[in-house]
Amino acid sequence: MLLTVTSRNVLLPDSDLPRPATINVDIRTGKIIEVRLQYIGNGACRKNGDLHFVDAGDKVVLPGLVDAHVHLEEPGNQDWEGFWTGTQAAAAGGVTTLIDMPVDSSPPTTTSRNLHIKRRSARGQCWVDVGFWGGAIPQNETELGPLLSAGVKGFKCFLIDTGIEEFPCVSESDLHKHMSHLQHFSKNSVMIFHAEMQTASSPARRQLNPRSYQEFLSSRPKELEVDAITLIARLQATYPSVSCHVAHLSAAAALPIIRAAKDRGSKLSVETCFHYLCLSAEDIPDGATEYKCTPPIREDSNRNLLWDALVDGTIDCVISDHSPCLVEMKGLEHGNFMEAWGGVSSLGLGLSLLWTEGRKRGISLGQIVRWMSIKTAELAGLSDTKGQLKVGHDGDLVILDPESEFKVSKEHLYFKNKLTPYEGMTLRGLVHKTFVRGRLAYDSALQDGCTGLQPSGELL
Ligand SMILES: [Zn+2]
Repeated sequence: MLLTVTSRNVLLPDSDLPRPATINVDIRTGKIIEVRLQYIGNGACRKNGDLHFVDAGDKVVLPGLVDAHVHLEEPGNQDWEGFWTGTQAAAAGGVTTLIDMPVDSSPPTTTSRNLHIKRRSARGQCWVDVGFWGGAIPQNETELGPLLSAGVKGFKCFLIDTGIEEFPCVSESDLHKHMSHLQHFSKNSVMIFHAEMQTASSPARRQLNPRSYQEFLSSRPKELEVDAITLIARLQATYPSVSCHVAHLSAAAALPIIRAAKDRGSKLSVETCFHYLCLSAEDIPDGATEYKCTPPIREDSNRNLLWDALVDGTIDCVISDHSPCLVEMKGLEHGNFMEAWGGVSSLGLGLSLLWTEGRKRGISLGQIVRWMSIKTAELAGLSDTKGQLKVGHDGDLVILDPESEFKVSKEHLYFKNKLTPYEGMTLRGLVHKTFVRGRLAYDSALQDGCTGLQPSGELL
């Protein structure tokens, strides 16, 4: 069983510029077995017994993307999202691997037993490959070793109140216990931080008009991120063998701390989200709680600095932080930012979002692949199999028409609760087909993108 994909524009690991190539994938093993620097198309696509030949012509072939920060919320909250719809949305956007967050499911992924429950509920439901982050909460440090042995890729913790009883935040003294355990157990693990922290000197919250986006923004000032990242850099220096990762950086004011830590050679990495790169506080209407997330979307000037930091490598990667809820939980009729559930839904739109915004700034698709695929695979410890079109890697491929435009409407949204701040926006870059381990997982020509296909994603 062989999949052959040929195109005049293939993004291979050693160049940011696409070039003619043909990729062969052994569908039985799911691995890329040959990359030939030649286009062999003749305009035809055919499926002949065990041979599947796809001529992508001028369309761009890129490695399947790795979204290392997604809340699938199952079990427990599968009416918010779930493995079936979440992974279908991923496939439709060219994401072939996603790593699920430990929070927002019930039980949360804070013990090896809970991980087992989560894996059982995911089985048979995944259109793309799914890996799992574990959770670090007060007093679960002895679970970190068993969770790593059971396959988690690292751990997520919060430095600020989560509002979720099963997933409290950790204090600095909790973190010393967790970090010394990690230092002992594994040289390749990573601690991911929700990097906002209230300290005695944090500016006071203001809540005069709960519909005002500006007031919501001032209730989560940049200082909360700066203080948290200062602590993270200090912890990293204390436990130098444990990698630390800043989740969803929003405040550009923290960039100097990150640059200094990286200059010292710290194992510190940073992600930001599509919404911090593509949206600005100035454009968010009052009461529009579909934009609410924490840390918040900040001003346009802040956004430009985040782009600069991506380009110069201070920020390593870009993820969705797809964090959906029931539409009712956004309380759109009241537009109360203080009460609405926090989280922006975007799974499946990320590639088009970053390409639409990035091309205005002279960014290449090769750079986008580095931020959304190579670097995120590295973060999740998957660089040997994911993120690049290379012999021996998994046959995860995306065919993208970079010039096609579309207006985001509910029909483009495959996730369960179809509420997103991007609805109505015109985006460029349309995913035509997505292959996971050599098998078709999404085809824009099919009804619903997948009618007649079977989910073939694996649990990592
Ligand atoms: Zn998140």
